[in-house]
Amino acid sequence: MTATIAKIAWLVFGLVWFALRLAPRRHSRKTPVRYSGRDMREFALLGASLTGLGIVPFIYVVAHVPRFADYPLVPALSYLGIAVDLVSIWLFYRTHHDLGQNWSVSLDLRERHTLVTTGVYSLVRHPMYAGFWLMALGQALLLPNWVAGPAGLVGFGILFFGRVGREEEMMISAFGNDYRAYMQRTARVVPFIY
Ligand code: SAH
Repeated sequence: MTATIAKIAWLVFGLVWFALRLAPRRHSRKTPVRYSGRDMREFALLGASLTGLGIVPFIYVVAHVPRFADYPLVPALSYLGIAVDLVSIWLFYRTHHDLGQNWSVSLDLRERHTLVTTGVYSLVRHPMYAGFWLMALGQALLLPNWVAGPAGLVGFGILFFGRVGREEEMMISAFGNDYRAYMQRTARVVPFIY
């Protein structure tokens, strides 16, 4: 394991993630949105996440900036990062499968939106966000740089904590007691814990 291999692994996982999103993006556009909570705040949250999970590590991987923040690579951590990223990719694959047409990149409710509580959605209420947390953790483990590594945890953390409460309120307004009951029996991202 070298820093170059770790960087390539980060890039490959990013590409696989992107590829997994292409089909759901195309399909979900066919179903019109009936309510959208997209506003400036959502735009800023998405920007923070994109910066931390995408832009900052990409600049590090292709241009090796900021070099001053490098630390010596620990191979065991890189391998752990790859394992964590594999779980994360599996979660993305399953969540897109289970969520189907109900997926969107922001806070949207679609025509004929259904409440999904099966598959990975029976384990936690936000399995896709769990996947992003794992992706961010994988980045921190893979990239031996104190800025580029943890940037994903910070960027996605801003999106997650800035959005999850609003998303749940939106789901309650749409599905009422069905969503409340679902909240009673599931945790947000870590089964039984949080
Ligand atoms: N927070 C979820 C979904 C992320 S995609 C997760 O982490 O897996 C965001 C969109 O999914 C939201 O706009 C909302 O409309 C929709 N959504 C969230 N939870 C849902 C559920 N249980 N069933 C159906 N749609 C859901």
